[in-house]
Amino acid sequence: MGHKKPLILLLDCKGKRKVDKTQVLIVNKRSGEELNEELARELLYWYDEAKRDLPWRASRDPYAIWVSEIILQQTRVGQGIGYYIRFLSRFPNVKSLAEASEQEVLSIWQGLGYYSRAFNLHRAARMIAGEFRGHFPEAANDWQKIPGVGAYTAAAVSSIAFGYPVAAVDGNVLRVLSRLTCEPEPVSESSARKRLSSGAESILSRERPGDFNQAMMELGALVCVPKRPKCGDCPVAPHCHAYRINQTHFYPVLSPKKAPTELSLWYLVWFNRNGVFLRQRGNRSIWRQMWEFQAIGEHEYRFLQQSRNGAKQPSSEIMTVAVRGRPVPALERILEHRLTHRLLRISLLPMDCGVGFTDKFLTFVTWKDIKDYPLPVVFSKYLKETELWEV
Ligand code: SF4
Repeated sequence: MGHKKPLILLLDCKGKRKVDKTQVLIVNKRSGEELNEELARELLYWYDEAKRDLPWRASRDPYAIWVSEIILQQTRVGQGIGYYIRFLSRFPNVKSLAEASEQEVLSIWQGLGYYSRAFNLHRAARMIAGEFRGHFPEAANDWQKIPGVGAYTAAAVSSIAFGYPVAAVDGNVLRVLSRLTCEPEPVSESSARKRLSSGAESILSRERPGDFNQAMMELGALVCVPKRPKCGDCPVAPHCHAYRINQTHFYPVLSPKKAPTELSLWYLVWFNRNGVFLRQRGNRSIWRQMWEFQAIGEHEYRFLQQSRNGAKQPSSEIMTVAVRGRPVPALERILEHRLTHRLLRISLLPMDCGVGFTDKFLTFVTWKDIKDYPLPVVFSKYLKETELWEV
């Protein structure tokens, strides 16, 4: 093993190298390797005492750890626990997931968002069950060949499940590292990420890499939180440069935020007392393969709003159909829904179509069966909030 550099960099808050005589003395007296080992030891000691009791931590099964990491990619731990338990009880191993239909996987995933994760899990399960004959890869590089598994997830699964010595660096860990080292660039910059990842490798515990990675994530989740880090409770405060110079509020350095792109969508919500008409989306764009109401254009939406008082005559097939329904203005909504880079503005025009209505492009789904049809969360919230779908 080569000589490791100390993680602690002597930088001031503007990123210029700063001569901190006390720190130089410490570094001179004790090697970087010693400091790194001390940091890892103190972190692991704290983790053993303070870690939360989370269901996936009771397992070394690569399947369970992989599923938990995919769920947690864009989901808070509190919300993820229920989904993890439901997912594993429905698909307890990679074979059962590989044998399930896409629709079954989506219905368990419903409400979690970022549905490409569910499609990738399913595709990957088929790959592992078929091509790999049920054997999971061990090395992080091999995990990265699995659909939906990037560098962070590969490192997390291979270190936790197989003890593979590789640092897992996600957003939480980047925040901790940027404060420990006073990283001068925003963590969104690849040069900063590279520097911090190499810092993470230098402090990684080779004896307990999986626990070390989880300890860093736990520190970011419980102590080194985004706003007002709890430095008084921090096991690695003596190693933290931002803390030492009283600049924790300055790190991580933020990059200017981009405004999200706005996208407007208009829908007719055909319903009656027994159920609602839905249509399955295709493979492109947002909400891939999920179910939605009848999408219409802005022009038709405006026309239908005006024509419900008899002010306008229908002029196309959709309008002829639409005016046959009974508009329910009390249930009309214009909703805003935020995705990562988009702000959706969704206008919903509900129509009570009575019993006997049919449409060759739409599927009638009863209120009893609707839970089996994965809906974007904004639509299921709408149906519940308006009490159309009484759960
Ligand atoms: S001392 Fe404070 S800023 Fe530094 S790592 Fe600990 S919690 Fe984060």
